[in-house]
Amino acid sequence: MNKHLFSLALLCFLPLFLTGCEEPESTRYDIKGTYSAEDNTFQGTLDLTYYNDTGEDLTSLAFNLYGNAYREGAKNPPLSAAYHSAYYDKLDYGSMTISSVEGGEGWSVGGSDETLLTVDIPALAAGDKISLSIDFSTKLAKVNHRLGVGEHCVNLANFYPILCVYEEGWQECGYTSVGDPFYSECADYSVEITLPSSYEVASTGTQSGTIKGDQKTVKTEAKGVRDFALVLGNWTVSTEKAGDTVIHYYSLGGENASDYLAIAKESFSYFSETFGAYPYPTLSIVETDFCFGGMEHAGLSMLNEKLDKETMEYAIVHEIAHEWWYEGVGSDQRNHAWMDEGLAEYSCVLFFEGRDSVYTREGVVSTAKKAIRSYVSIYSQLFGKSDTSMDRPNDKFVSEYEYTNLVYNQGIVLFDNLRESIGDKRFLEGLSHYYAAHRGKIATKEDLISSFSRMGVDVQGFFASFLEGKVII
Ligand SMILES: [Zn+2]
Repeated sequence: MNKHLFSLALLCFLPLFLTGCEEPESTRYDIKGTYSAEDNTFQGTLDLTYYNDTGEDLTSLAFNLYGNAYREGAKNPPLSAAYHSAYYDKLDYGSMTISSVEGGEGWSVGGSDETLLTVDIPALAAGDKISLSIDFSTKLAKVNHRLGVGEHCVNLANFYPILCVYEEGWQECGYTSVGDPFYSECADYSVEITLPSSYEVASTGTQSGTIKGDQKTVKTEAKGVRDFALVLGNWTVSTEKAGDTVIHYYSLGGENASDYLAIAKESFSYFSETFGAYPYPTLSIVETDFCFGGMEHAGLSMLNEKLDKETMEYAIVHEIAHEWWYEGVGSDQRNHAWMDEGLAEYSCVLFFEGRDSVYTREGVVSTAKKAIRSYVSIYSQLFGKSDTSMDRPNDKFVSEYEYTNLVYNQGIVLFDNLRESIGDKRFLEGLSHYYAAHRGKIATKEDLISSFSRMGVDVQGFFASFLEGKVII
């Protein structure tokens, strides 16, 4: 036995002795299905093993069916009219259909906009498990969005029924065109997709696969992830290792791929050292068709392939920061989007200020302040007043413009002012404590605030003044 093996044995022995080496129970999604490029549909089965860790007895489970927000006639469609150019061909629709649920006592699709599946179950005591099997079909619209057939790639985010978070009842996530309407707990995933061999697959987790003629099957395993996403396409893939994590960069053919991979690796390493370790073996940065800058998923970032170089670099760093803020430390981004977006933005400031970059701390903060002032001026003229409160549900922002200014830009100013008032050391200590205490779980805004106040600094009033929009910027 060499020294390395000996340490591993010791590490395994200690938990075995102390706890029986049992891992905590986790909810598990086993998804198997086929993607048909002819009818743009993923047809599959979700075998779910749900572990009731709510502390309450349950008689139902509820799932968000985000894919059904893309259907014709949806009350809350995924894109506002301002972004209809994402429908690159013509306005198009998708859907998510449930055909059967086994293991429950009845089911229905409803909620505020037909995006909620409720399954009645035999009484499930706290700490017990139940298994369900759900057959579903997700038809993709032709749209450059999180879920859709894009101009070059197929984006498969939010393509399966995903459990709602249980907080005094199941939390339905109605879709909103403003912000990210997603909210979920971490779980283990095994996803097996059969698809035309002509596609390559970028995904959350670690892949293995087999090819049979013009079809191939790709299997992906991911442990303890908040969601699961795939992108199908054809890329030039380059790879770097950072610590124990393999970073893949999926390029659609532009000339800057090596620079983008380098900045992905540098920011990943910086965030790992500054905030805490990233626990997964892979991270995939994927150029694809997306009408905004980028979108975070567990271990996978979608990036708009049309971004110019400077914007792309910023977007890559922002999306990677979300692996710490939202994917790592979960938060209710439907109601408190400033928590993850503000931190992802400020993480960019922290990263870029240590480099020779166009994005300096002073520059980014001053641009954010100017943008907020201009928002205040425009909205005051338009509506006679402007509301600069940040902590509101996404559907209470009247436009993407208001949301961007109050969640992203005001988020930058909030965290910069906090850093200035408590000093760099306590600011960074607060962030690493927040990550260590809440990674893999869901944090509230009080958890975030107390990660700073626990060091003896009174920041309650400071946060309140920003969140309630009382601060003058
Ligand atoms: Zn973001």
